[in-house]
Amino acid sequence: MFGALKKKLNGWIKKNSEINEVPKKTAKKKTARKPAENSPEDETFLTKFKKKLTEDKFDELFEELEIILLQNNVSYSAVSSIKKHLGEKLIGKTLKDINLSNELKKAIEPILINPPNFIKEIKLKLKKNAPFIILFFGINGSGKTTTIAKIAYYLQKNKISSCISASDTFRAAAIQQLEEHGNKLKIPIIKKDYGCDPAAVGFDAIRYAKKNKIDVVLIDTAGRMQNKDSLMKEIEKIARVTTPDMKIFLGESTTGNDATEQAKVFDETIGTTGIILSKADVDEKGGTAISVSHAIGKPIFFLGTGQKYNDLEIFNKEKIIEKLGLQ
Ligand code: GDP
Repeated sequence: MFGALKKKLNGWIKKNSEINEVPKKTAKKKTARKPAENSPEDETFLTKFKKKLTEDKFDELFEELEIILLQNNVSYSAVSSIKKHLGEKLIGKTLKDINLSNELKKAIEPILINPPNFIKEIKLKLKKNAPFIILFFGINGSGKTTTIAKIAYYLQKNKISSCISASDTFRAAAIQQLEEHGNKLKIPIIKKDYGCDPAAVGFDAIRYAKKNKIDVVLIDTAGRMQNKDSLMKEIEKIARVTTPDMKIFLGESTTGNDATEQAKVFDETIGTTGIILSKADVDEKGGTAISVSHAIGKPIFFLGTGQKYNDLEIFNKEKIIEKLGLQ
């Protein structure tokens, strides 16, 4: 994650911070020429490093950074927020007085939100009332089924029992896929026939959990595009019937703006407690994490980092910033 973005960001910082190396070169050129012959290159240098940055010059400086961020899946609105922060810090100053890397870090950091402790949240509620119910939603192929199995495994490691509601009743293969995970993890899968009402399956799973003293019900749902009205109404119904304690949007890290748009619509439709971004292991850009958090102001709980049960990383914004290599 972040390979491409890290390289480009640090390239931009280096280019705009190397005030000691650039002057020597420019100074040599300047002594060889009369002042009137200063090239535009010299002028840019002087403006950038010695003169105070005007708003126009700041816009010019930011333009390249903006392209880098947009190309690496940082949404336009997140870029605007970064620009606002940097503008406040940089306009009126000279670049030599600014630690660009640090300011960029400070501009990105507040956009990312650290999640509450997942296990603690569950245990807190379990003291009062069981089961704890988690509803998962997102588009097809975003990694819901795999992630639910990873969460079940993570709960197991923390001595919390779970069962899975096979509420994706659209795809027969989805029920089968869950049963395979259920067999491997020794976790009950609550299912009905293909085509049944997914809310009814969720309801049954909750009843099963209560009866069998199972701590957590994980509800898998069919992949749905956020622009399909009937499917969005259906997920609303599932949420109404099962009254989840957590509603988790599953987004694919590699899809950038698509994941951001999906998160927004799901959040507006049924409300979102938090996000899990799958496939972070194959995401070179990394900007989706910044964009999704910025779009809905909710934390990312986990990053999916592979196809094995253990490939689930607790989201930590300090770690993310560290990965960007900003000091
Ligand atoms: P669903 O349709 O949303 O239930 O998605 P699936 O759970 O079936 O996942 C779709 C594909 O993505 C499968 O091949 C998974 O193995 C793969 N996948 C899921 N999560 C990750 C992840 O974190 N990293 C990688 N590399 N692949 C993943």
